Formats: sequence, structure tokens, C-alpha cells
Amino acid sequence: MSSAQALQINAYMSPHPLDEDSFLEEEWISWLPGYVKEETEDGLPSYYHDSNVALYEKIETFTNDLFKKAAERIWPLLKDHHFKKVFISIDYSNYRGDTSLAGYEYRYSNPGKGTYQFSVDRNLLHRYSAFLDEKLDKLPNMNIWEHELMHLLDHWEILKASSFAHSDLPLNNLRYYALKYREEGIANLLDLLDGKIKGISSIAKAKEVFAANYTKVKSDLSNHKKTDDKIRSEMYSGYDFYEVGPWIILDMLDEIFSLTEIDTDWFMSRLGNYCQP
Ligand SMILES: [Zn+2]
Repeated sequence: MSSAQALQINAYMSPHPLDEDSFLEEEWISWLPGYVKEETEDGLPSYYHDSNVALYEKIETFTNDLFKKAAERIWPLLKDHHFKKVFISIDYSNYRGDTSLAGYEYRYSNPGKGTYQFSVDRNLLHRYSAFLDEKLDKLPNMNIWEHELMHLLDHWEILKASSFAHSDLPLNNLRYYALKYREEGIANLLDLLDGKIKGISSIAKAKEVFAANYTKVKSDLSNHKKTDDKIRSEMYSGYDFYEVGPWIILDMLDEIFSLTEIDTDWFMSRLGNYCQP
């Protein structure tokens, strides 16, 4: 694809308030800053009100623009990827979870077909709409869509890891627990380089926190022959993956660099490859 501007993005409120089959209740959506809680002139429910319809469109366009901006920023990584259509479901009913902001839905994405599904979760929607309603002068400064796009690039590894995540064997869950530092570490590396990671400030500290967490999780799991959804979701919650993970990836990159020995001769020979007819 020639540029991020050419991406076909469909950001949509989900369920869409104007969809008659959405069984929408006013309370699900009336919390949105700027929402007008009034019937229409024809006596229809408030979600059909002209100013609310305009509000949905504003949120959808805003989401679309922010996504495009992020794609543009990391376009060199994305440009050879197959893109047909990107869907972004704006989830105001909080289907996914209490703390998350956005997501890459690998289960509903298909790199072969070039179709990808993302979500905006209620926490992020709250900030988007407060910002649009001028109740908030700044958005969170994390690279949210760059992060989710890195997950897209990592699709197949995420898919592989997910079978360990949902297995009921503790050993598989422990494996996924470790892999989650990889997944979120890669996706959050840009945030680390941008100086946006809080909490951990060195590779040494990150290793120490990882080792302590891993030992604890391993010991907790040793009490179970099989795990269930509750045990697993507790184990995979928290922010350490996001804060510790990128430092671990940085440490591993350092190791890869030292193995490759990017010395003068190697560098010059690679440059030579660029110039061959
Ligand atoms: Zn992530």
C-alpha cells in the first residue's frame, strides 16, 4: 500500500446506537460527555437526537484520524503488509474490561485477507469524548495505536502464545505468563524509547522484578493440577508486562547486536549490498 492515508478504516460505535437491533438502553451511552438526554422532536429516544448522531460521527472520525496518524508514524514497518480493511469497534458498553484502553483483536483479524479488528475500550472512549467536549485538555500521551499496530505485526506469535494462555495446564499458563512480557515488551518498546514508561528505570531493575514475579507465579501454580478462567485472569492482570517487558526486549536487542557485531567491516559490507545493480 502506498501510504497510511490510503488505509481503509472503519471506526464505528459498537453496538451502533442507530441500529434497531442493538437493544440499546439510554444509560449505556448517556454517560458520554456532550450527550443530550432529550427525546427527538418526533418523540424518538435520545440516541436518535441530531446532536447525539453528530457526536457519534465526531468520535468515529476522531478515532479514525488518530489511528491513521499512528500508522503514518510507523509506516516503514507497515508498508509491505497486506491491508484491505481495518475495523475499529468503539465499545461504550465496556464489553472487554475495566482497565484496558484499546486492543488488537487477533481472533477476528486475518492477515491473509488483509482484514484487521481493533477496539477502543470504554476508558479510552471516555478520554476521547472528554477531550472532544473540551473537558480534558490533553489525551494520554502513550503511543496507543502504535502499540496496537505492533501487535498486528506480531499476529502469528500472538496466536501461538494464545493457546498457552487458554490451556488449563499450569505449565502452559506459566509459559504464556513469560511470553506476555515479550508481547507487551515489543508493543511498548516505542513508549520506552519515547521516555513514557513509568515505574521501571533500568534493565537491572526490570530483570529483578521479572525474576521475583515469575518465581511467585510458578509457586502459586504449583498448588493447582489444572487452572480455570479465574486463576488465569488474575495471573495475567497487572501492568508489569507493560513496564518490565520493554526493558527485557531492550536487553535482548543488546544481546542480538553484540552477536551480530555491527563493526566497521560488517557495516560497510552491508552498505555495499544496497548499491549493487
Ligand atoms: Zn498490548
